[in-house]
Amino acid sequence: MSQSEHLETIRNVIGGKWESSRTTEFLDVENPATGSILARTPLSTAEEAHDAVAAAAEAYDQWRFEPATARVRPLFRLAALIRDHEAHIARLIALENGKSLTDALAEVKRTCENVETACGMPVLQQGRRLTLASHGIDGEVMLLPRGVYAIIPPFNFPAMVPFWFLPYAIATGNTIVVKPSEQVPLTMQFLAGLIEKSGLPAGVFNLVNGDHRVGSVFTSHPRVVGVSMVGSTRTAGIVAQDCVKHGKRFQAMGGAKNHLVVMPDARVDQVVRNMVTSCYGCAGQRCMASSAIVAVGERMYRKICDAFVEASRRIKVANPLDPEVANDPMVMGPVISAQARRRILEVVEKGVAEGATLALDGRNLHVPGCEKGHFIGPVVFTDVRPGMTIHKTEIFGPVVVILKAETLDQAIGIINAHRYGNGASIYTQNGFWARKFKMEAEAGMIGINVGIPAPVAALPFGGMRDSFWSETKAQGTSVIRFFTEEKVVTERYWPEQDPFGTGSLRNITS
Ligand code: NAD
Repeated sequence: MSQSEHLETIRNVIGGKWESSRTTEFLDVENPATGSILARTPLSTAEEAHDAVAAAAEAYDQWRFEPATARVRPLFRLAALIRDHEAHIARLIALENGKSLTDALAEVKRTCENVETACGMPVLQQGRRLTLASHGIDGEVMLLPRGVYAIIPPFNFPAMVPFWFLPYAIATGNTIVVKPSEQVPLTMQFLAGLIEKSGLPAGVFNLVNGDHRVGSVFTSHPRVVGVSMVGSTRTAGIVAQDCVKHGKRFQAMGGAKNHLVVMPDARVDQVVRNMVTSCYGCAGQRCMASSAIVAVGERMYRKICDAFVEASRRIKVANPLDPEVANDPMVMGPVISAQARRRILEVVEKGVAEGATLALDGRNLHVPGCEKGHFIGPVVFTDVRPGMTIHKTEIFGPVVVILKAETLDQAIGIINAHRYGNGASIYTQNGFWARKFKMEAEAGMIGINVGIPAPVAALPFGGMRDSFWSETKAQGTSVIRFFTEEKVVTERYWPEQDPFGTGSLRNITS
């Protein structure tokens, strides 16, 4: 018997029952800071994915007719449960994902905010009516639920990303099947327990752990009406194409390379502190992490290169759960896996080979006591030109490239020529430059003196170009369109004829 057979095995939730998977294939869930194995997750079978969809379809028949006020009642309880357990959930996230406790707690708070926003559904899901659309005719737009939705999140936000969709899908009257990232299943396992305690009826929420094979059952299943998927652009493309082929709605949100433009008037002290948090939070593994700095003008370029490298040197790299650093907001943990680390180091090699200057080299960093962890210290490249591999690629690690532009137009040109368009920020005190940037930079989320322009739960989240294969964005009021059918009723009644010949219709009721 191998060591991993003694470990906790992650379970599925199908039709309200906690089930051990029937699969024979398991994946070890690793603590990326120590390399220790935390649990094992089943790579569930296609039959189990089918069972989950069937359970969701059965629950839908009743759930769709529950009044909106009844549908949000369990969500109010869920929000309170998440808040009560936020420290524990943050710890689980830090354990399996490797991000700092500060980052993990911020993730839990945004998770909860999404549940709270969805609690407004009795107001948000109200349709529209045009009385007197024509003579004696009224028009009505109803926002109705559609059926079973699938949610397929990535590894970097085990709680928040599924909750960009989960509470909204449920509150609008749909039922769901969720497949967490196979790399970080522990957080959703715990949240599934809270969902159960919230009193949500069996089958409304179903959980199937597994890899891309479970995902592709969902994207091709005839009973699934829509898919919300977040991950790499490659996977987003596959999911989008599968959904088109099988006639489903989809949200497929992909990779990113976010730029920070520093104008000559920017407050360097404030800016550098802000950029450091944006670039190294979650070890650069946020879809909103900035990884390309564009300084405008030679003077600012030199200043930023010096100040940013200096600030990057001061980043504390450690096991985020080490009690000595656990409360330090500036601690940076490992990247998610040995494979991710290898991939990142290969891109760094390419940067060196292509002639960029390696101004800070975090490749050989060692964290005492964490010899099996997947750590990389901050890596900063200067003298980077657009088109170099380190600028073109989403590195998804603590690697930052600094480029120079002569003008704001040139800086915007660099952003707009890039394949990704998730977020982009400008640092300036000048209103004209800021306005030009927000109008012309092609990214779905814009920051003005804000390094991580991730919108709050009530506002839409999503990028442009290769960062976003879909029409409706995540969270807030935008996502309601994705989860509802705008059914339009055109309605008229002819004057009643008197069926009794009494001369008065009032006699019928008297
Ligand atoms: P990934 O693409 O490897 O996996 C994402 C999810 O898709 C996982 O649950 C995976 O099991 C599933 N999957 C993989 N192949 C599939 C298939 N053929 N059919 C159905 N499901 C499939 O991504 P990852 O490595 O977990 O996450 C990192 C990526 O996510 C980065 O590129 C990052 O930029 C991106 N991301 C984007 C956003 C955004 O808002 N645009 C947010 C967070 C993360």
